[in-house]
Amino acid sequence: MGSKCIAVLTSGGDAPGMNAAFRAVVRSALSFGMKVYGVKRGYNGLLHGDLEEMSMRSVSNIMQHGGTALFTARSPEFNTPEGVQKAAATCREKQIDGVVVIGGDGSFRGARDLCEAGVPCIGIPGTIDNDIACTDYTIGYDTAMNTAMEMIDRIRDTTESHDRCSVVEVMGRHCGDIALNTGIATGAIATLVPEVPFDFQKDIVDRMKAAQATGKKHYIVVVAEGVGHTQELTERIQKETGIESRATVLGHVQRGGSPTLRDRVVASRMGYHAVDLLRNGIGNRVVAMKGEDIVDYDITEALSMPRVFDETLYRISAKLSI
Ligand code: ADP
Repeated sequence: MGSKCIAVLTSGGDAPGMNAAFRAVVRSALSFGMKVYGVKRGYNGLLHGDLEEMSMRSVSNIMQHGGTALFTARSPEFNTPEGVQKAAATCREKQIDGVVVIGGDGSFRGARDLCEAGVPCIGIPGTIDNDIACTDYTIGYDTAMNTAMEMIDRIRDTTESHDRCSVVEVMGRHCGDIALNTGIATGAIATLVPEVPFDFQKDIVDRMKAAQATGKKHYIVVVAEGVGHTQELTERIQKETGIESRATVLGHVQRGGSPTLRDRVVASRMGYHAVDLLRNGIGNRVVAMKGEDIVDYDITEALSMPRVFDETLYRISAKLSI
């Protein structure tokens, strides 16, 4: 039998587009005649009974805003056997027979634990990092990349005026996807990602010198968060090339802002898909994007998939940036 009463929460790091997913879950559930609760501050809301029944209007006018109207949190208390049991008890008390968790890998591990405690859960990938193995796309990724691109365009203006090199660190945790794509989109001379080892002399200094010999006078180097050491790298570049170099860490600016059309539409489709699974009595799944299709996988299977980095695109980016 399918779910009749569900809850939705956002957990872990926030991402632009989470509101569109939340809205889609609420509106889809109500349109199927289900009862739906919005849970505040991730799993903490389940632990402390901080949840509210939603109406069609509860999710009005939020889709265009970054962040999450449900708020989010990291919940160490939930990450214990007692915490999981307490959250499951809240679900039983409110007769919640399905939970949609919008978040990253960590949040999906929590969802798997809650499934094991008897509450069917569906995960929706929401993180700017695009670091979830089972899906080609995570909600927030497009907005974050576009923000990073715009910021680097601005940095390029001043970098060009001063004949400098700007080394820009973008987010992504252990995943180099934001760096790879923004590196291509901003014409970076070098892009460093954690997935591919680099040789400082060959991949940075020699490339800059070869470009300098053809008349290039300013340079952008994009560094993924997972590579880090951006300040040291910058100082070393200046020392080895003689080109004045500056470091910029973009940081949380990439997590905010109005979501792009792509993030809103993918989030809306994923939200609907999650509810459709629960209403058909299917739990313990993660919604994912495969090509342009919305699909779903078993949570445990999804969590054990290896992440694949697009090395072909990385090689192409190196060819274009000289
Ligand atoms: P993200 O979902 O963005 O990867 P976190 O890793 O911070 O973010 O996880 C968010 C929350 O999910 C944690 O605070 C915790 O409540 C829960 N969680 C994370 N890892 C686990 C785990 N291994 N087992 C159970 N719950 C987890």
